Amino acid sequence: MIVTRFAPSPTGYLHIGGLRTALFSYLWAKKNNGKFVLRIEDTDASRNDEAAALAIVDAFAWMGFKHDGEITYQSNRMDIYKKYINQLLDEGKAYKCYMSREELDALRETQMANKERTRYDNSYRDFTGTPPEGVEPVIRIKAPESGAIIIDDGIKGQVVFQAEDILDDFVIARSDMSPTYNFVVAVDDHLMGINEVIRGDDHLSNTPKQMVVYEALGFTLPKFYHVPMIHNSEGKKLSKRDGATDVMAYKEMGYTPEALMNFLVRLGWSHGDQEIFSMQEMLTLFDPKDINKSASIYNTEKLDWLNAHYLKNMPNEELAQQLENYDIVLTSHDKKEILLDAVKERAKTLKEMATLIKEILATPESYDEKGLKKAFKGNADEVLKSFAPNLETVKELHLPSDYHTIMEKTITDMEVGFGKIGQPLRMALLGKMSGPGLDSVMAIIGNDETLNRIESILEVTIPS
Ligand code: GLU
Repeated sequence: MIVTRFAPSPTGYLHIGGLRTALFSYLWAKKNNGKFVLRIEDTDASRNDEAAALAIVDAFAWMGFKHDGEITYQSNRMDIYKKYINQLLDEGKAYKCYMSREELDALRETQMANKERTRYDNSYRDFTGTPPEGVEPVIRIKAPESGAIIIDDGIKGQVVFQAEDILDDFVIARSDMSPTYNFVVAVDDHLMGINEVIRGDDHLSNTPKQMVVYEALGFTLPKFYHVPMIHNSEGKKLSKRDGATDVMAYKEMGYTPEALMNFLVRLGWSHGDQEIFSMQEMLTLFDPKDINKSASIYNTEKLDWLNAHYLKNMPNEELAQQLENYDIVLTSHDKKEILLDAVKERAKTLKEMATLIKEILATPESYDEKGLKKAFKGNADEVLKSFAPNLETVKELHLPSDYHTIMEKTITDMEVGFGKIGQPLRMALLGKMSGPGLDSVMAIIGNDETLNRIESILEVTIPS
């Protein structure tokens, strides 16, 4: 059975790159009827892991994917790590290093002066003498001093490191016995039964160290997939400045989880030139071996395009429900369907849709000046005045087509083009020159409010 994991360090929110890793790991596990587990990497006690875990659980809930089993917190597992550290000490695979901070700094300076790679010199590796007074030792693991370390990566293929270029006997426990990052990741991945590790390729350089730990403890290596980073349009690693990094900010901005997931799955992964993927399709088609070898580019227009697609195709009932998160309550609105149909083609986000709806439902408080000048050239007043009484004829259904008919009647009566009624009416109803179809707007707000808005604009002095 495939077991994957998402192993965030607690930051208080889930960022978009993390969510993509989580999505890939989730899809791959679920596609194979496996498990997807969540581990909070909170060995650094100064961080607030509870809030961070909640933020992740919230984001997962919004996205609609669930981790299997309980959340594992590394901070609860210190005894386990200690046990394995002691085992390595007993077996002579790890040792106490008494080099003081000052000595280590001096060593580093010499190496830098000699233009050498800065590394611990393994001087306590075979130490049998009397330890120096007053130094609390750290525990270091014996790492290979030469030879190739080969990662058989599921995305990058074989990645070869030379031990002498990247390794030294690195610290697995600090002087207070607290374990270090690469040690606990390897121990937990093994103990949690994780056999496929999908993570960002910013971790690639950690992998050889983790492989040393696996080897020393006699654990079987998982399969690794190092996913190339997400870049911004300038080809740099995505940062906070490139837009929201917190997943929940995407919710606030009015993106749907379906669009965001679809967007994320295509950041680095493809299936032919297909762009739209339902969750079901992702589950059928996703395979980490198809992840690109190069970085992917974050593109907001693509996300907007996908979101617009999902909004357009969302059933109105669901749309109405989603809009409640943006202060739009339509439950008792009798023209709910017409309203949603009018706006769903025009908005890229739920938030934009909510704004459009508010603009339709509220009487304009002001009018766009340029629009006024343009719309009220010539006899626009007369045209509007001739239109108003026609509203009386729309008695029963109040459908957009009814309103369309009376707009046509006005055009014929007044012998003018469509713009001559369309523009002033649009200004009257919405206060600006853009927005949904006027026949729909009138059907939504009804005769009285339409008349009210027409009367209001007729009182306005048109700027010259
Ligand atoms: N905790 C690491 C992070 O948040 C991930 C570790 C891993 O995936 O191995 O970047």
